[in-house]
Amino acid sequence: MIDLFYAGWVNIYLRLEWGWSVVGSVSKTSQIPGFYRLSPVERLKLVKEFAGLSEEEASLVGSMKGLSLELADRMIENVIGGMTIPLGVAVNFLINGKDYLIPMAIEEPSVVAAASNAAKICRVKGGFTTSATPPIMIGQIQLTSVVDPNWAKMVILESKEEILALANAQDPMLVKLGGGAKDLDVKVLHTLAGPMVIAELHVDCRDAMGANAVNTMCEAVAPLIEQKTRGKVYLRIITNLASKRLARAKTVADKRALGGSNVVDDIISAYAFAAADPYRCATHNKGIMNGVIAVALATGQDTRALEAGAHAYAARSGHYSPLTTWEKNEEGDLVGTIELPMAVGLIGGATATHPVAKVCTKILGVKSAVELAQIMAAVGLAQNLAALRALSQEGIQKGHMKLHARNIAVAAGAEGSLVDIVAQKMIAERRIRFDRAKEILEELKSVVKQP
Ligand code: NAD
Repeated sequence: MIDLFYAGWVNIYLRLEWGWSVVGSVSKTSQIPGFYRLSPVERLKLVKEFAGLSEEEASLVGSMKGLSLELADRMIENVIGGMTIPLGVAVNFLINGKDYLIPMAIEEPSVVAAASNAAKICRVKGGFTTSATPPIMIGQIQLTSVVDPNWAKMVILESKEEILALANAQDPMLVKLGGGAKDLDVKVLHTLAGPMVIAELHVDCRDAMGANAVNTMCEAVAPLIEQKTRGKVYLRIITNLASKRLARAKTVADKRALGGSNVVDDIISAYAFAAADPYRCATHNKGIMNGVIAVALATGQDTRALEAGAHAYAARSGHYSPLTTWEKNEEGDLVGTIELPMAVGLIGGATATHPVAKVCTKILGVKSAVELAQIMAAVGLAQNLAALRALSQEGIQKGHMKLHARNIAVAAGAEGSLVDIVAQKMIAERRIRFDRAKEILEELKSVVKQP
């Protein structure tokens, strides 16, 4: 058997009967035809070369024992063990002219394959182009018990420089890196519990997600705000609606690569449905987050913060809306864009402590949190394209349930070679259900028991 494919940035391998043989060199590419047909060990070998992983880093991932009990016990409370979920790699991603292999940690079948397929389609016209705002997070300080809230608002704004200086005194490291508290906004809210004055610190978090940094600043400036306004501060906390920390991506999907002009129109119609109906839109955005959160989990991000931010941003107009847009250009190709908050970091949190997250970050080869944010936006856009294409054409169940059949077989108790046998039978019967998997398993076991 001869199977030719690219192994990252240097080697072309020939798969011969007796193993792998290097026969040439190419530039680094994430296009690895047949990647999905390889064994996990073979895939890891290619990723190791692409990303320049050490033996130790590769075996951390490959062993599925990346996190020690001792380390886990230091990360959260009441630890009893670990929970491992699959780590896949999406191929074909070309972002701002650079090739990326995308590590994705997720338990749901089809997501990694869908991202890889969409990235392959987008590659035809140059892949993804991305951008981002500076990494500004917002911290809120809730001031209550002020009789004259608008007066208090003015007092806080007049003290802006003093408040920013006090906030920045909490984090000289961040300031030294060019980050820190940059601005202050104040708003008056009329709430069920009476008027409140909300001071909002805008903090450039550089390569940190920033929750700890921002919360520390908010707590530090609260007494000063109380003293100046004679009010009472309660909450001092970051907001996950990171509307000043946005990541954006755009792509042009070639109409032929998509399957024709009709597919372009069908996808635009599917997008219009989501734009008009929050029930459809929730699933539209969930599909985007399939990709975003899989990369987030692989790289040790705060996934809940990202989910909260994305959905709150989608609802900012008062009408819950898609995080992506899809339209047709003059050539009849499909143009997609995405914009969403992306509070991710390379410093702090699990990114800095989880050994596998560190390896995943190395696989991505990102140098800054802003770069990571842009990659994740591109993955979200690709994921949405794949979902809309599948949904508007053959439906997602055909591809999804084939992969899902194996999981159902395992859940029903199948082991070893029985997993594929049970799955195949359910697919052939078009009855991919837990109860049917159990029946098939029983039938197979009774056949084996017979003399
Ligand atoms: P952190 O406090 O561990 O690290 C950030 C600090 O690292 C900065 O304050 C800075 O002093 C230092 N630093 C060194 N090099 C840096 C660089 N290049 N760029 C930026 N900072 C640098 O982490 P964090 O990012 O402030 O907090 C993230 C954690 O907070 C996550 O684990 C998250 O789950 C958690 N958290 C989240 C929420 C929320 O989302 N609502 C609330 C509380 C805590």
